[in-house]
Amino acid sequence: MRSINPTNGKHFKTFKNDDWNAVKEKIALSDKAWLHWKTTSFTVRSRLLKNVATVLLKRKTSLAQLMAIEMGKPLKEGVAEIEKCAWVCMYYAQNGAAFLADEPVVTDAALSYVSYQPIGTVLAVMPWNFPFWQVFRFIAPSIFAGNCGLLKHASNVPGCAVAIEMAMLDAGFPKGVFQNLMVGSHLVDKIIAQPSIKAVTLTGSTEAGQAVAAKAGSLIKKTVLELGGSDPYLILSDANLEEAASICANSRLINNGQSCIAAKRFIVEKNVAAKFTQLLKQNMQAKVMGDPMDPATDLGPMSRIDLRDQLHKQVKENIKKGAKLILGGELPEDHTNNAFYPPTILSHVTPGMSAYSEEIFGPVATIIRAKDSEDAIRIANDTSFGLGAAIFTSNTKKGNKIAREQLQAGACFVNSLVKSDPRLPFGGIKMSGYGRELGLHGIHEFVNIKTVYVA
Ligand code: NAP
Repeated sequence: MRSINPTNGKHFKTFKNDDWNAVKEKIALSDKAWLHWKTTSFTVRSRLLKNVATVLLKRKTSLAQLMAIEMGKPLKEGVAEIEKCAWVCMYYAQNGAAFLADEPVVTDAALSYVSYQPIGTVLAVMPWNFPFWQVFRFIAPSIFAGNCGLLKHASNVPGCAVAIEMAMLDAGFPKGVFQNLMVGSHLVDKIIAQPSIKAVTLTGSTEAGQAVAAKAGSLIKKTVLELGGSDPYLILSDANLEEAASICANSRLINNGQSCIAAKRFIVEKNVAAKFTQLLKQNMQAKVMGDPMDPATDLGPMSRIDLRDQLHKQVKENIKKGAKLILGGELPEDHTNNAFYPPTILSHVTPGMSAYSEEIFGPVATIIRAKDSEDAIRIANDTSFGLGAAIFTSNTKKGNKIAREQLQAGACFVNSLVKSDPRLPFGGIKMSGYGRELGLHGIHEFVNIKTVYVA
C-alpha cells in the first residue's frame, strides 16, 4: 500500500499488505484478547481511554503533519481533528459507565433489568477524509463497551492507520484489543465471513455501504452505515445573510470540501439569492489555497488526483447543462502532479444536473433558487440522501419547527453548520445510512441489549 502526497504527487511511503494468513492471525489474536478484555472493569477501560487521549494530544502536531502528507488536510484542521479524537475518548471515559449501567425495569418478576453486554470483534471499514476522527468515534464507545476492534482503513492513508494502532498500544491497551489490517477492499467480504467477526461499521460511500451491508446481511451480522450526504442549507429571506454566507463558506470548504456533512446544496429564497451568492463568493474567494503544511493555508489539495479530475469533470458537465459558473472551476496550471482544485460556485442549478442530485465531494458550492420557504423545504428533501441539513432564518421558532418536523435528515441545525459532537448522536437516514455513532445512542449499537428476568 502506497501513500502518495497529493500536494506534489510524490511517493511518501510504501506499506506491506497483510496476506490472508496474517489477517487470520490478527483475527485469532482479537478473539483471544476479547476473552480477557470483556472481563475488565469500566475503571480500567476508562483509564486506558484517558491514556490514549493524552498520547494523541502529545502527538497532535506530528499526526496532523501525517494527514497533510497522506491526504492533504491543512495543518490547523489536522490538529483540531486530533484534539477532537482526544475529546471523544475523554467523553466515553467519563460517561461510558453510566451509559452501560444495568437498567431496572419493573415487571411481574422479582428482578428484571436490561444489561449491555459486549459482542466480540467489530470490523471497522473507514474512509480517508477524517482518517483519525472517523476511527476514534468508533474506537471510544465500542472498545469501552468491551469489544475488540479491527480496522480496515482506506488504502490511501496507511500511515494514519499504523499511527492509530501505535497510539492504542502506547496508551496501554492489551495487544489484540485494537489492530490494523493492512488490506484492500477486495478482502472485506472474506473478513466479514469469519465467524469471529460479529458486526461491521462502515463509513464511506453509499456504494461501499451497499456492498458491506449485503454481505453482512447474508450472514445476519449487524451493520452501522455512515454514508454519503448532500446536505441542504436553506437560506430563508429573513436570514442574516452576512453571517449565513460566512458559515456556509466554512462548511462547504472544510477538509478541502471533502466532508460527508459539508454544506453541499445552498437552497436560497429567490429574493435574496443574488445577494447571498455575492456574499458566498466573497467568503470563498478569501480562503487561502496552498501547501497544507503551511499554518496559514485554509484549503489544501484534494486527497487524490483522480478524485480531483472526477470533480472537475462533474463541474464542466453541470455548466454544459446550464449551471452558471460564479467562481473557480478551472484546473491550476501545474495540475498534473497535484490534486488542487479552487473554491468553485455553481448557481442556477436545477433538476437534471448532477449538482442537484448527487454528492459533490470537493470545494464546489451549488446554489439552487427556491420560490419560498415551502419550496426550499421541498427541494431540500428532493434527494436520495438524508445525513444533515441546516436552515438559516432570524425566526428561530420557525427554524426549529422546520428542523424538527420537515427536513428529512439525521441531524438538523438552525443558524449553524452541521457538525458532529461526541455528546450528540450522529448518523443518517435514506441512502446516507442507518445506525448512530456518538452520544448515548452510539455506545448501544454494538452491544447485546440483554434482558435478564429473575422470577
Ligand atoms: P469509499 O471509497 O467508499 O471508501 C471507504 C472505505 O470503504 C475504504 O476503506 C474503502 O477501501 C472501503 N471500500 C470501498 N469499496 C468497498 C467495497 N465494495 N467493499 C468493502 N469495502 C469497500 O469512500 P471514500 O472515498 O473513502 O470516502 C468518501 C465517502 O465517504 C463520501 O461519500 C462521504 O460522504 C462518505 N463519508 C461519510 C461519513 C458519514 O459519517 N456519514 C463520514 C465521512 C465520509 P479502499 O480505500 O481500500 O477502497
